[in-house]
Amino acid sequence: MKSAILYALNKDLEIRDDVELTELKAGEVQIKLVASGVCHSDVSAQNGTIPTGLPVVLGHEGAGIVKAVGPGVTEVKPGDHAIISFTPACRRCKPCLRGQANLCATMMQMTLTPHFVVDGKTIGGMAGCGTFSDEMIVPENAVIPVDASIPLNVAALIGCGVMTGVGAAINTAQIKPGSSVIIFGAGGVGIAAIQGARIAGASEIVAVDKVDSKLELALKFGATHAIKPEAVDSTKASVTGGEGFDYAIECVGHPALIRQSFDVTRRGGTAVIVGVGRLTEPVQFNAFELFYHEKNLKGSMFGSANVRLDFDRLLRLWKYGKLDLEGMISRRIKLGEVNDAFRAMQQGEVIRSVIEYS
Ligand code: NAD
Ligand code: ZN
Repeated sequence: MKSAILYALNKDLEIRDDVELTELKAGEVQIKLVASGVCHSDVSAQNGTIPTGLPVVLGHEGAGIVKAVGPGVTEVKPGDHAIISFTPACRRCKPCLRGQANLCATMMQMTLTPHFVVDGKTIGGMAGCGTFSDEMIVPENAVIPVDASIPLNVAALIGCGVMTGVGAAINTAQIKPGSSVIIFGAGGVGIAAIQGARIAGASEIVAVDKVDSKLELALKFGATHAIKPEAVDSTKASVTGGEGFDYAIECVGHPALIRQSFDVTRRGGTAVIVGVGRLTEPVQFNAFELFYHEKNLKGSMFGSANVRLDFDRLLRLWKYGKLDLEGMISRRIKLGEVNDAFRAMQQGEVIRSVIEYS
């Protein structure tokens, strides 16, 4: 089996064709991957922004076909098509019972259970997945079946970037019709957030990116304004009369942009932080402003999704032409081209590269 493995930080992934899987245990499902998106979080694992054990099979945004199931698996069977959820939704832990399935308490267990065998050693997959591989094993709760008529390269994007971005807009921010929204970063997650804001009925959707081609794309996906970072203050003045945006969504992961997202939100408005920075990078707030402006500062993990409801919700929006997923696929590649896809993402050349497995 072929897999792309990160052996050391800041190094290219090594493509190995001699990788095996552990024995399928109770409650586990073996997936034959059909497609995997390349998300910036994979790049962040490679450069150490997101901590991960090494070596590791990267990739966490995938869809495929169930190949085999372990003892006790009842919800899926071989042949089923599915999107993999990098946070399982067990429906029994406290977060799931509270209605916050994206924070499922079994996520850490999934992350820390290794399923790949290479050079006689067992190694893990990113976020307990490892979608840069012909096949992988995940817990049953992380396998969300989808109708076999849905193209799996489109479905794969829902496994992270699209659910994260659209969910940040409709679930975390809960954007109301007629409101003003600013979105920092028009990559895979940011373009999905723009689409989420459009679906939620926002009036003004301002996209901010430093790359011109991303700004052009942002307009295609529903942004009403697309601006370079230096134009944020003047655009806030012209679009909101200086008051600030009802909602800001940060989809980059830079401390300065997280702070700016809070600053450009109006008093009483909501700033949602989706981007992932380093554990060592602080963001500062003074002890007066938090009370005085009564702004909501919300983190957003996986678009605050309940994957069992929301994957289907997004696929129905896609089915009726309200959510453009095909347009988000910039390049269709083979696993061997994954290092080029990482470089293209870092240079801002792609929304999503999608690895297609044969
Ligand atoms: P991406 O690389 O596709 O997009 C990032 C965009 O930000 C690019 O278009 C880039 O040009 C732009 N950008 C970079 N620096 C900028 C700056 N200073 N000002 C304006 N624009 C700038 O990445 P992505 O896959 O969309 O992921 C975005 C972020 O979301 C990453 O930090 C990723 O780790 C994070 N993420 C979070 C979750 C979650 O659950 N919260 C899930 C997936 C991804
Ligand atoms: Zn991701």
